[in-house]
Amino acid sequence: MSQAFRSTRVLTPEGLAPATVVVEGERIVGVRGWVDVPSGAALEDFGDFVLLPGLVDTHVHINEPGRTDWEGFATATRAAAAGGVTTLVDMPLNCVPETIDVKALEAKRAAAEGQAWVDWAAWGGVVRGNADALEPLAEAGVAGFKCFLVHSGIDGFAWVDERDLCLAMERLRDTGLPLLAHAEVAGPVDAATRALSGNGAEWRKYANYLASRPDEAETEAIALLIRLCEKYKVPVHIVHLSSAKALPLIRDARDRGLPLTAETCTHYLWFAAEEIADGATEFKCAPPIRGAANREALWGALGEGLIDMVTSDHSPCPPAMKRRDPTHELPRWDEAWGGVASLGLALPVLWTAMRRRGLHIGFLVDWMGEAPARLAGLAGRKGVLTTGADADLVVFDPDASWKVEADDLHFRHKLSPYLGVELRGRVLETWVRGERIFAQRDWIGSPRGREQVRA
Ligand SMILES: [Zn+2]
Repeated sequence: MSQAFRSTRVLTPEGLAPATVVVEGERIVGVRGWVDVPSGAALEDFGDFVLLPGLVDTHVHINEPGRTDWEGFATATRAAAAGGVTTLVDMPLNCVPETIDVKALEAKRAAAEGQAWVDWAAWGGVVRGNADALEPLAEAGVAGFKCFLVHSGIDGFAWVDERDLCLAMERLRDTGLPLLAHAEVAGPVDAATRALSGNGAEWRKYANYLASRPDEAETEAIALLIRLCEKYKVPVHIVHLSSAKALPLIRDARDRGLPLTAETCTHYLWFAAEEIADGATEFKCAPPIRGAANREALWGALGEGLIDMVTSDHSPCPPAMKRRDPTHELPRWDEAWGGVASLGLALPVLWTAMRRRGLHIGFLVDWMGEAPARLAGLAGRKGVLTTGADADLVVFDPDASWKVEADDLHFRHKLSPYLGVELRGRVLETWVRGERIFAQRDWIGSPRGREQVRA
């Protein structure tokens, strides 16, 4: 039987307008006028609430198998569903085994079985010494590859230098898959850290952590990646861009027609270094959250299209690893695990920030729907309300006001820098491939998420 979803505010690639989305089985078969409900279709009328496509988050650390005490498919995908995110792409590290060969990918698939509330896909890893594993991983269905140019924090996920990158790009050239890079190089980080320690820096102060990850670590890494992108013609994607000082490099590469894309994350767009308290290690991530002027420059680059998309980089850990034990003294930034936990909050966080800046909600779907779907090879299938796409739908109340409490965090550990933040906009319902999976703050049925392999 067909279904019809209508509202006076449906967001399609043509804009926000009254419409009816017609669904047969798992797919959208047409977007029609508001009055044009097919006879015999089951009608869901959402009134004036905004109907958005399910969002796509291409930067999530699910940490399963192997570190399910940090996160896992069940908790991560529940959080995603509650936040209107219907496709997650999992990073290849923090899980054990790391997704650096086909056997590890199979272990991930087995771990996800029967647990995922939303659809998902996997990035493979490029690490020192695994060049021979890349083509088999590509054939086995990873969406692309991620590498680090600096220590990842995970010993099993070795960072790569220029020589390793050249070996990897030779292999990636024929796959058509993108190389995603954590764009910080070690040199400036090591030099800054040594200088700070030599001067007896107080590592409980955020300013010292920020100074230990200077802009130059990002700009040097991005310059290297652009050179290799040009040489090998492999699509390169900069994950979690933090430093606005790298924007001229990206602009120049794009002007020269190189296949270079970039993302920034919700925390770089929402928070600013000036507001981060000493010892507040729930804000620790790398690259770090920089100053307010830098944040405004990132917004400018998004508006200009220089930054293509926004991801969460949800990367949680047990609170003890953030050294947030209440019996402890103020935590040290250098001892705390890096990663911000936020899965499920990106939509209201971005929307709240966009309202203040007078931006149309259509941009949000470009940044968190169509652009990440394209990166993961899911264009036309995910992140868009159009004929032929999966019927992934979000019913969103753009005016609801609420404050983030621990009960609103559905990932495993309720530690997040967003606790206490006042937001506008709330997800009322989430649908995946034509089935309602979340409504009235509760999940419906059982996990039916499926792996998505790129076209
Ligand atoms: Zn990450």
